[in-house]
Amino acid sequence: MALQTRPAIAERLRGVLPGDRVIDDPATLEPYAYDASFWSLRMQRRPDVVVVPQSTAEVVATMRVAAETGTPIVPRGAGTGQTGGAVAARGGIVVSFARMRKILEIDRPNLQAVVEPGLVFADFQLALADRGLFFPPDPGSGRACTLGGMVANNASGPHAVRWGTTSAYVLGAEVVLADGSVIVTGGEHSKALKSSSGIDLTKVFVGSEGTLGILTRLRLRVQPKPAARAVCLAAYASIDDTVLSLDDLFAAGILPSTAELLDRSAVEAIQRYRPELGLPDGEAVLIIEVEGTPDYVASAVRYVDGIVRKRASVTRFAESEAEIQQLWAARSGMAAASALAHPDKHRIFAGEDLAVPLSEIPRTIRTAREMATELGIAVIFYGHFGDGNVHSAILIDPADPDEVTRADELADRLHRLAVEVGGTVTGEHGTGAVRQQYMRLEHGAALDVMKRVKDTLDPKGILNPGKIYGT
Ligand SMILES: Cc1cc2nc3c(=O)[nH]c(=O)nc-3n(C[C@H](O)[C@H](O)[C@H](O)COP(=O)(O)OP(=O)(O)OC[C@H]3O[C@@H](n4cnc5c(N)ncnc54)[C@H](O)[C@@H]3O)c2cc1C
Repeated sequence: MALQTRPAIAERLRGVLPGDRVIDDPATLEPYAYDASFWSLRMQRRPDVVVVPQSTAEVVATMRVAAETGTPIVPRGAGTGQTGGAVAARGGIVVSFARMRKILEIDRPNLQAVVEPGLVFADFQLALADRGLFFPPDPGSGRACTLGGMVANNASGPHAVRWGTTSAYVLGAEVVLADGSVIVTGGEHSKALKSSSGIDLTKVFVGSEGTLGILTRLRLRVQPKPAARAVCLAAYASIDDTVLSLDDLFAAGILPSTAELLDRSAVEAIQRYRPELGLPDGEAVLIIEVEGTPDYVASAVRYVDGIVRKRASVTRFAESEAEIQQLWAARSGMAAASALAHPDKHRIFAGEDLAVPLSEIPRTIRTAREMATELGIAVIFYGHFGDGNVHSAILIDPADPDEVTRADELADRLHRLAVEVGGTVTGEHGTGAVRQQYMRLEHGAALDVMKRVKDTLDPKGILNPGKIYGT
């Protein structure tokens, strides 16, 4: 709860920042009440003030006002998060990074770049591609989401199977702490690609969702962009065969760059949405990508095809970029396909991001399907199969209170199922406001240590309150 009224806080902020950085007229504040979560649609919690800083100094000035007045302060990237993370659950100041989106350096010989947190992932990727580089974590929201949001949520995407999540690519960060002081993690002047020096504070801030400090600069590891890729698509009569097929690849010493899953519900939705893609029937389809030099890729995709066809009912592979994009179109059309599958309903983001052991994917999807049927809720399942990340698109009429209650019940059961089978309630989207109630179940006593870290770094509890810790 802000200790000062909205006009008083805005006045204080205008005293320390150029006037155009401070927004407090109610109509302009409205969009900041939302991110992509169903939770924010229901909460409709407008911040009291939005600050759009242009420099670290302006973030520091904002933080000092928040600290002096005990006002909640919530960093915000593009607001594509699905957990209410960037929404001011208890009012206060939202800090938007829309004006801090510069690439400060791309250093190819040292395989790193320094960027401001408001930089959009796709813009970064374009700039890197000009230099033969890329940033491996690749969320589906990449055309909109920011690097700051990705680091704060430890985001990832299809390529995490081989390349890992955002966490693996954050070498250091400039962080504005809750008292307005500034630190640089990962070595103040370091350009090293690894370090065993001291506690890895960078990792403390990665995935902390704006609750421990505000990121104002990021030193990111980048990679040489593989020269070629090819994709193998395999359809299976049984979902169990997908796990066996992937294990066959592991046994052959192959770790693909992606192994994306469409379950039967997703296959049917895409067949209706894009019949021209000719997506084969199946209980499940995997989209498996290999990358490397052209010669390697040409032989690897045939090798992969030879292995997966032992268990798949249909396989197909693509080597030219046009064909590859056609196969990927099946996966990237998921959002539109889900919408068309039930035109009278809306997709909500709730219980959408389970991650489970690979071997448990079939059981998870089967049980989840049964739960959805029992509760009478339409759901489409897909995901980043190669790292056990099962996404569910729950489709409901948000104006139907009974259906909303049943969807809440389903989301709750899905989260509990993930923990029960040895997984996590969120593989990449984060905890935010919506998954706090599962932190004890998943983390046990470790949650108390998380809370102690939070209390130490943010004793007044002003940084993004109402998220992660269940307090
Ligand atoms: C259609 C769609 C597809 C998606 N696909 C994926 C996917 O494939 N993989 C995936 O991982 N996610 C995905 N997401 C979720 C989301 O896009 C990611 O979590 C993304 O990283 C959020 O970035 P953002 O800039 O929108 O952050 P926001 O939503 O603005 O914020 C997210 C969190 O980061 C914090 N934050 C933002 N900036 C800072 C900062 N500078 N310092 C400290 N904290 C900060 C916020 O307070 C908040 O807690 C998807 C979302 C949508 C809508």
